[in-house]
Amino acid sequence: MKTSRPIRARIAPAAILHNYRLAKRHAPGSKAWAVIKANAYGHGQWRAVEALRGEADGFAMLECENAVALREAGVTQPILLLEGVFSARDVRAVIEHRLTSVIHCLDQLELLVRNGKFDTPISLCLKLNTGMNRLGFTAATLPKAWEILQQLPQIDITLMTHFAEADGERGVSWQLDRFRQLAGDWSGPVSLGNSAAILRHAEAHGDWVRPGIMLYGASPFADQSATELGLQPVMTLESAIIGVQQLAAGDQVGYGGTFTADQPMRIGVVACGYADGYPRHAPSGTPIAVMGRPTRTIGRVSMDMMACDLTDIPEAGIGSPVTLWGQGLAGNVPADEVATAAGTIAYELFCAVAPRVPVVVDGANVAERT
Ligand SMILES: *Cc1c(COP(=O)(O)O)cnc(C)c1O
Repeated sequence: MKTSRPIRARIAPAAILHNYRLAKRHAPGSKAWAVIKANAYGHGQWRAVEALRGEADGFAMLECENAVALREAGVTQPILLLEGVFSARDVRAVIEHRLTSVIHCLDQLELLVRNGKFDTPISLCLKLNTGMNRLGFTAATLPKAWEILQQLPQIDITLMTHFAEADGERGVSWQLDRFRQLAGDWSGPVSLGNSAAILRHAEAHGDWVRPGIMLYGASPFADQSATELGLQPVMTLESAIIGVQQLAAGDQVGYGGTFTADQPMRIGVVACGYADGYPRHAPSGTPIAVMGRPTRTIGRVSMDMMACDLTDIPEAGIGSPVTLWGQGLAGNVPADEVATAAGTIAYELFCAVAPRVPVVVDGANVAERT
């Protein structure tokens, strides 16, 4: 719904395409599953699909029903189900719609075998647990999986694993070693790298990479910005000033009075709060921009509003545009910096944008939301 309350999430589909191409340039020998799980990290699954339709080698997501919807919308590329099948119905859908399912444990493999017909080819991604200890076969369970798989005709298998610390100090080599041990003399295709591995670990790409956060223009690293990586932000969360207060020294702002003015100040009240998805834990001082000028938030974020410092932006007043994060008319505020201030990551900020925030798509002549 297009509401007159000024908050908007502006989406730039062209930036998704730019970022996908950047991933491909970093992994020139690999195909790439564009990861569009969680409603494309809060950007809108269909917007991401439209942006990448002509170019993505494949799409990766979670829900089988969503994957089928992509097929029904005419998407012909491979579609990977990152957690595989959950039910007999999923197994039938995977076969009927030529989806690629992760298989991560024996129970899931047995679900597949019990409910599948194997008279047409089927693609599977066999997930190996190399240290993340979330999903995947281990040395204890993998032999049994191979035994079962050998009895199935017409299956294409890709071996896959997921890195726990591709963005951090421990890196990927310890997991790659375990992957090689588990894979043995496997010479078929493998799928390894997430965004961090794509950007930093050329040896950890494989035949298929799986870029997620980088498509949406945020950095997977704490020590390197999205701009430095050449990524373009896709989402801009923007709103406007709806109130102005003049503070005297000693005045406090917002719930709990966590901010006290130490001198006279002018503050603006922004139509954005935690019910819009802005992180409540963002402290005073979190970056924000008003009318193209960088400034800082003031006091606690409340449900529908928050405050920012306008002392040095005298031209700003009611109606002035505000960028909460992204690259907007009101200024550039990296989502990663807001996330860091709030003790989280841009992944979470994007996914948390609330349904009540209207979405505007750059290049689309009609405001839309799904
Ligand atoms: C979410 C996910 C990705 C994408 O990770 P990013 O850090 O967003 O690039 C890749 N692989 C798997 C298995 C995932 O679940």
